[in-house]
Amino acid sequence: MLKSVQKEDVTPVCPHCERGVSEIWFRTIETMLGKRYVYMCPSCKKVLGVTHRKGFWMG
Ligand SMILES: [Zn+2]
Repeated sequence: MLKSVQKEDVTPVCPHCERGVSEIWFRTIETMLGKRYVYMCPSCKKVLGVTHRKGFWMG
């Protein structure tokens, strides 16, 4: 069983540009399977993840 620990004082780091991200950008795209949310790093604009539900990371 994974334990989830809330860490409000830790800044996530983008795996692409290795800069700390204080916010995450997202936009919607229409795919053959329906609408998807694409999350990206504000610094380098690279995609961090895609999900089918808003605000649900990697879901
Ligand atoms: Zn980045």
